[in-house]
Amino acid sequence: MRVLVLGAGFGGLELTTLLSDELGDEADIVLIDQADGFVMGFSKLDVMFGRTTADAVHHSYGDMVKPGVRFVQSVIRAIDPVNRAVETDAGRFEADVMVVALGADLDPAATPGLAEAGHDYYTPEGAFAAREVLESFGGGRVIIGVTSTPFKCPPAPSETALMLHDYLVGRGLRESSEIALVMPLGSPVPPSPAASQALLAAFAERGINWCPDAVVRSLDPQRRVVVLANGGEMPFDLFLGVPVHRVPSVVAESGMCVDGWIPVDPLTLETHYPNVYAVGDVTSVGTPKAGVFSERQAAVVADRLIARHRNLVSASTYDGTGICYVEFGQDRIGRVEVTFRSGEPPTGTFDEPSQSLRAAKADFGTLRARRWFGREWTSY
Ligand SMILES: Cc1cc2nc3c(=O)[nH]c(=O)nc-3n(C[C@H](O)[C@H](O)[C@H](O)COP(=O)(O)OP(=O)(O)OC[C@H]3O[C@@H](n4cnc5c(N)ncnc54)[C@H](O)[C@@H]3O)c2cc1C
Repeated sequence: MRVLVLGAGFGGLELTTLLSDELGDEADIVLIDQADGFVMGFSKLDVMFGRTTADAVHHSYGDMVKPGVRFVQSVIRAIDPVNRAVETDAGRFEADVMVVALGADLDPAATPGLAEAGHDYYTPEGAFAAREVLESFGGGRVIIGVTSTPFKCPPAPSETALMLHDYLVGRGLRESSEIALVMPLGSPVPPSPAASQALLAAFAERGINWCPDAVVRSLDPQRRVVVLANGGEMPFDLFLGVPVHRVPSVVAESGMCVDGWIPVDPLTLETHYPNVYAVGDVTSVGTPKAGVFSERQAAVVADRLIARHRNLVSASTYDGTGICYVEFGQDRIGRVEVTFRSGEPPTGTFDEPSQSLRAAKADFGTLRARRWFGREWTSY
């Protein structure tokens, strides 16, 4: 069975690792990504706030040695879901099964004024550049603002606000600064009221201005104001933005999307095209866009492909569950476990922030770097 995996992020890496672990050289997998390496989502915040360096959080695909897997670094230019084939800068590839794991692209240009007057911190390049911006910041009004839904890792802007507070305290700039968090959600982590309450309490203790149910539409570079979707305006000295998310253009052009994302069977991750699956941020599966959900979806697809390879039928289905470690500042981490099931309201549990959960978060990164890249790594 030839398998074509498009995208080597959380979903693609987990899928190829599981297939290779189980099938070894019997696997015939081509994994394609345009990048030369992988950066975990939370590492972007660690670099931005000076806890580690860009080099230290880069996991090179060149270090990935997996039986049965060939990694191809190339840009995918066209996807043909009917024939399970792609055109890339390195040529054409086709397979018996194709899995689309190309994630969500970020489009800073979709928000007028963002590139001129603000800073995207959701791409690796944007986050790494924001580090220098923060280093030269002398205090003032900071807005952390979300420009559309859906967006990756919904707790991340709240974490950013709390980490920024610590950062400004450390530099002696907190007294001369204001922090506002503009979020399209009504609470910081809607499926977990306990996590939301804890975050709102943390914002209140630190004087962080929480602005719920609000979306940033544009920035006015001359007047240095953020314009909200409801017409309101907020002045700023520094704007850290979460840009508009959309599928990569090659996915949009493939004809696979409905309302902007790839629809899948929420239990099996199958698309409407025979033998074509999609996992993670590129789908509209109904979970938030986060790596933990992408990799758990990938595990279901892996089970099903392994069973198929052995002429068995897999009963493995996706359960919509994911764990997220949330930075509360002052070196404390909270943990949220949430479950999203089709047709049911999401549920969640919450472990209060503590220093001991930092080790659990570090293990999360260490384990994945070891399994995916054969690399010993500690997040920071
Ligand atoms: C600041 C921040 C913090 C976060 N923190 C967390 C966290 O703590 N926990 C968590 O679970 N998630 C977190 N996330 C979210 C997480 O990073 C994403 O949801 C996750 O990476 C999605 O996985 P994926 O496999 O669906 O896509 P991705 O990991 O985005 O992988 C998609 C891959 O496709 C490749 N690609 C795209 N287009 C092409 C093309 N045309 N040709 C070739 N290759 C292409 C890309 O290079 C990329 O490697 C965070 C995100 C951010 C921005």
